[in-house]
Amino acid sequence: MFTRRSFLGYGAALTGAAVLHPVVAAAESHSTMSDVFKSANGEVVIHPVSHASFVMETPNGVIYADPVGGAALYEAFPAPELILITHHHGDHFDPETLSAINTEATRLIANPTVFDQLPEALKSKTISLSNGDSGEGLDMQIEAIPAYNLTEERLQYHPKGRDNGYLFNVDGLRVYIAGDTEAIPEMRALDNVDIAFLPMNLPYTMDEKQASSAVEDFAPKVVYPYHYKGSDPELFAQLVAETDAGSDVRMGAWYGSST
Ligand code: ZN
Ligand code: ZN
Repeated sequence: MFTRRSFLGYGAALTGAAVLHPVVAAAESHSTMSDVFKSANGEVVIHPVSHASFVMETPNGVIYADPVGGAALYEAFPAPELILITHHHGDHFDPETLSAINTEATRLIANPTVFDQLPEALKSKTISLSNGDSGEGLDMQIEAIPAYNLTEERLQYHPKGRDNGYLFNVDGLRVYIAGDTEAIPEMRALDNVDIAFLPMNLPYTMDEKQASSAVEDFAPKVVYPYHYKGSDPELFAQLVAETDAGSDVRMGAWYGSST
C-alpha cells in the first residue's frame, strides 16, 4: 500500500484562505509515498513515480502525467482514465508504456508533436492541444499552457510554441503541470494555483533560482519540484522560503527516495 501524508483543510482553497494542516507526517522515505489533499467533494492523492511521471487520483478520475518507464512502474496504481503528455522527449513520452497501460476507458491529451507520433490505436482516443487551447478531459477543461526555453543557449531544447504545460481545476483545486520550461511570462502570470509541478535541471529547463523567482510571482499554495535530476530541490525550497510567496514546497520520491 501507499504511504500517505494527509493534509486536511485543503478545501479552504475554495475560499481563497487555504491553510495546510499536516495531519499525518509519514516518516518513511519510500518511493510510493503519496500526498493527500482535501478537495471540495473528496480528495486528490498525488503519487510521484519518477522524474516527470506521476499519478493523481481525483474525484473526477485517475490522471497520469507523462507516464514513461514501462508498465511495471504503474502496476500498483489504478488504471489511467486521462493521460496528459507535455511533449515528445523520451523522459515524457513513451509509446510503449502508453500502449501497455491504457485501457478502453483511457483518454489522452497531448501536444501536436506527440499526437503525430502516437500509434493509430491511441490517436483516436487523444485530443491534440496547441499552446493556449483547451480541451475536455474527465469533465474538466484542460488548458495547454506554453512551455519553452528563454535562455539563448537552451532554445534548441524546447522552442516556443511546440510543447505544453497543463492547467486544470479538479474538484476545486487548480493544478499546474509546467512541463519542460523556464520561468516564462505565462507561468509568472498564473494566479490562484493550488498545486504546481515545476522542473529544474540544466541545461534543459531552469535552475533552482529561476524556478524560485517564478514561484515568487505566481505563488502557488503548494509546489512540487520535479524533473530535477542534477539540481538541488532543497536549495529551491530554501530560496522559496526567502520569498514572500508563502508556498509550501513538497518533496516527492521522484528518484527513489523522498528527497
Ligand atoms: Zn524536454
Ligand atoms: Zn524533460
